[in-house]
Amino acid sequence: RAKAQGGNRLAVFDAEANAREITRYGLTTRLPAALEEGEFFLEYQPLVALGDGRVMGAEALVRWRHPQQGVLGPDRFVALAEQTGLIVPLGYWVLEQACRQARAWQLELEQGAPRINVNLSVRQARNPGLVNDVARILKETELDASSLHLEITESALIGAEDQALDALRELTDMGIGLALDDFGTGYSNLSYLRRIPVHTLKIDRSFISGLQHPDAPGNPRDEKIVAGLVSLAHTLDLAVTVEGVETELQAERMRALQCETAQGWYFARPGPPDRITALCAAGADRWTGGACA
Ligand code: C2E
Ligand code: MG
Ligand code: MG
Ligand code: MG
Repeated sequence: RAKAQGGNRLAVFDAEANAREITRYGLTTRLPAALEEGEFFLEYQPLVALGDGRVMGAEALVRWRHPQQGVLGPDRFVALAEQTGLIVPLGYWVLEQACRQARAWQLELEQGAPRINVNLSVRQARNPGLVNDVARILKETELDASSLHLEITESALIGAEDQALDALRELTDMGIGLALDDFGTGYSNLSYLRRIPVHTLKIDRSFISGLQHPDAPGNPRDEKIVAGLVSLAHTLDLAVTVEGVETELQAERMRALQCETAQGWYFARPGPPDRITALCAAGADRWTGGACA
């Protein structure tokens, strides 16, 4: 009987694995058409200055409106696009769209327009045309380089060749900001911090979830890691952004640790561009010591 059950379980498992494989295959083969048909779109999540509650930036996050499966998040398709190389044209589409939106915010809001943060994958950083294409996109969208920050994950930098690091250096020479995304999750040997001019460390949300939460006691070790990362960043004259702030308590902890900028559901979930316009137009002080709007 146990054997039969085991056998069944194996069959179910096989069927599931198989279904997953078929889905992956289906998504992968559909990616190029999706780009051509305009099925991708961007959402924007505010980056909030913890000092005064100002929305000083927004991160562009890609989504896929799949005709049969509904809206898919990047965790479903970015890795697939990376494997097939489609991430390169998709990445340029994202970059252009995001820069155009950032320029639109500048024209719409007389002052206090947010800068735009765009995620860059390893494969894009390795692409020889990167520097020229970014320069061209900035020119075409009439966005100044300092209004664009690129986010690259720590793990992407670890295996990066000199050529990719040179490209990142050229981009920062143009005035573009560089943020290290998901900081603390890679094998941080930190040596690349000497080789490329990073401006911001984005502390990964896995550490923040260990901070005090009304439903769960804080993890004292996570508190110490976060405090250490913030102080490391400041020693190196880097700014700090924390991801994944979900509660007022967490926002307060991070403010107390002198962290400059935060991002997370407590402030706002990713949403359409008008939401950013409205938050910017509403001005600062929204989240300081008050309830979340
Ligand atoms: P990321 O760059 O670290 O982006 C932050 C992710 O955390 C986003 O997930 C965001 O929706 C989510 N998040 C924000 N605040 C909270 C919070 O308070 N709690 C929780 N639980 N989650 C929060 P999303 O949009 O699913 O994106 C996942 C990842 O996909 C991104 O991680 C980024 O690495 C990648 N990605 C997104 N857009 C692009 C893109 O245009 N190009 C590339 N290459 N990668 C992208
Ligand atoms: Mg990011
Ligand atoms: Mg991140
Ligand atoms: Mg992340």
